[in-house]
Amino acid sequence: MLLARFHLGTTSENHEELVNALHRRGYHPNRRTLHNRTVVYVPNTAPTAELAAFLAANPAVEHVEDVTATPPLVSASSTGAPTTVRINRTVSFSPGEFVVMAGPCAVESPDQLATIAHEVARSGATVLRGGVFKPRTSPYSFQGLGERGLSLLAAAAEATGLPVVTEVTDVAHVQRTAEVADILQVGTRNAQNFSLLKEVALAGRPVLLKRGFGCTVDEWLHAAEYVLNEGNADVVLCERGIRTFEGATRFTLDISAVALVKHLSHLPVVVDPSHASGRRELVEPLALAAAAAGADGILVDVHHEGAAALCDGDQALAPDQFSHLTNRLRALRTGLAAAPEANLLVSARE
Ligand code: PEP
Ligand code: MN
Repeated sequence: MLLARFHLGTTSENHEELVNALHRRGYHPNRRTLHNRTVVYVPNTAPTAELAAFLAANPAVEHVEDVTATPPLVSASSTGAPTTVRINRTVSFSPGEFVVMAGPCAVESPDQLATIAHEVARSGATVLRGGVFKPRTSPYSFQGLGERGLSLLAAAAEATGLPVVTEVTDVAHVQRTAEVADILQVGTRNAQNFSLLKEVALAGRPVLLKRGFGCTVDEWLHAAEYVLNEGNADVVLCERGIRTFEGATRFTLDISAVALVKHLSHLPVVVDPSHASGRRELVEPLALAAAAAGADGILVDVHHEGAAALCDGDQALAPDQFSHLTNRLRALRTGLAAAPEANLLVSARE
């Protein structure tokens, strides 16, 4: 499949002209705009040299690429640069930033959420997490507070000034959740729920899209393509571990996928070391590995009473452990920034 990216500053008349010319030649192109970038691509069509030359000859076109291997809108070639997903005036997923999202796996009570929200804000989290619609393996497990939890999230956001990320599990909850949440999370179990992905895309909020634990990188990127295809370019991908033969950890964190997706796509990528490992003692090393591998942030479970948590207590960091993690992340990132990439390349060649 061929994709043509237009120069910045080209007009909708320029774009229309190419689309019409393609139609006249019998093609059925798609045109989409991601933030300030417009692309035209021709799905289900062989990337012939003739078509590539035709696209490249258009003066409004900056770049033509065969995107057969990666979904077009998700592919790095659709924007030519990393996408910044802005959450509010101070928080954005963008090159040079590292966003720490932290909070309880599940919102349990006003006191629990207020305590944890305050602790994570104090230790440098810039987004508050907390699930209110919980997708649980067993119907007998705590299912979340539902709409009541959304009000608690709104109160915690107000008290701490932190934006909120929370999961939606059902199209019926999307609109109400979007009134409270700054970021809508689609969880691993709904990673290929295409009607939910399309509904979430239209809610006017950035989307945190977890990788399905049984999904390949290609399937994960195609899930993101559903959101972008609806016109929402604010997608943050989240690697949260996949199911493998290994039972010693809850899932297997696929760090390779983080590096690979940073290479294939313009979208920011974050890591959830809590759900990946299921064990609090592994959360810090995995979070550091994520930062070193080029992730744009992390999503971490924190609970002040892990042993009594109603959901996923074994993987929740205590507030002092979370503070330790953010200090070490800061030190690691300072060290990485001080080691210029050029030097690394020189030493790699030696
Ligand atoms: C969560 O982050 O609360 C969650 C349920 O994660 P996942 O979908 O990755 O299991
Ligand atoms: Mn959980």
